[in-house]
Amino acid sequence: MAERITGHTELIGLMAYPIRHSSSPTMHNEAFAKLGLDYAYLAFEVDQDTLEDAIKGLRALKMKGSNVSMPNKTVVHKYLDHLSPAAQLCGAVNTIVNEDGILTGHITDGIGFMRALEDNKIDIIGKKMTIVGAGGAATAIEIQAALDGVKEISIFNRKDSFWENAKETVRKINENTDCKATLYDLEDLEQLRKEIADSVIFTNATGVGMKPLEGQTYLPDTSFLRPDLIVVDIVYFPRETALLKMAKEVGCKTMNGLGMMLFQGSAAFELWTGQPMPIAYMKEILNI
Ligand code: NAD
Repeated sequence: MAERITGHTELIGLMAYPIRHSSSPTMHNEAFAKLGLDYAYLAFEVDQDTLEDAIKGLRALKMKGSNVSMPNKTVVHKYLDHLSPAAQLCGAVNTIVNEDGILTGHITDGIGFMRALEDNKIDIIGKKMTIVGAGGAATAIEIQAALDGVKEISIFNRKDSFWENAKETVRKINENTDCKATLYDLEDLEQLRKEIADSVIFTNATGVGMKPLEGQTYLPDTSFLRPDLIVVDIVYFPRETALLKMAKEVGCKTMNGLGMMLFQGSAAFELWTGQPMPIAYMKEILNI
């Protein structure tokens, strides 16, 4: 990569802490190299104490933009000039684009989920989905699905610290989109059975299924599923969670979280460069 960096190379960052484990620098730099684009992507350890200075630095250095991850996603909006409709509704930003000194915040996680479905030839527009989760990833998916034209979303969550956020998400969807959202307690398994039976797609957007909850699922048995139901788990490590194993037993079409991860990156890549990411090549590189 040293050979391709010149005085013209534009810098894109990733601001989060911890962040050294991230695969985003590899993903974006491989894509820049493949397309011969004059950008470089670097990870910076930035937490909430240094975020404001980091954004001032981004402006001063005329960086093209940045990704933002935890713990900065829900606070960085304070330092930006504009927000995309999805970022505004989610109250979170994972991508910043610098256009002539004007910083706009976007959230591409939900776009990534919707594009991953499209990539798998799954169409949920105008249909009903049931989803479990009320954290950052779930909120982004629920808001984007509603903005994109999903007709009805049944959201389930435990009555934990995320419950209030789930209520807010439902309120925002019902007030700002044509989608009808309803919140249910995940303990109400009969309601879960009923909502899944009415839906074309069932999605897990919680950490259940990955460490330390690997091998677990809140679905008691396969009787909640049917062969023509699409089952998605946004967990990508392991690639096949206990939920996806159950779904495969029943004969459901399944999708794990790797596609969402790739396509949230490709959506950010497009915002910065104006060009689509070379998806087939990236799937090879990332072994998806
Ligand atoms: P978060 O901490 O913001 O939210 C956690 C969610 O899990 C909440 O809804 C919480 O109620 C629920 N939860 C936690 N423990 C539970 C349990 N024992 N039973 C039922 N529900 C439980 O996390 P997040 O950032 O939204 O991430 C959630 C999952 O999504 C993680 O596994 C993460 O790896 C995955 N993720 C995937 C992608 C992707 O691109 N594929 C992107 C972001 C997150």
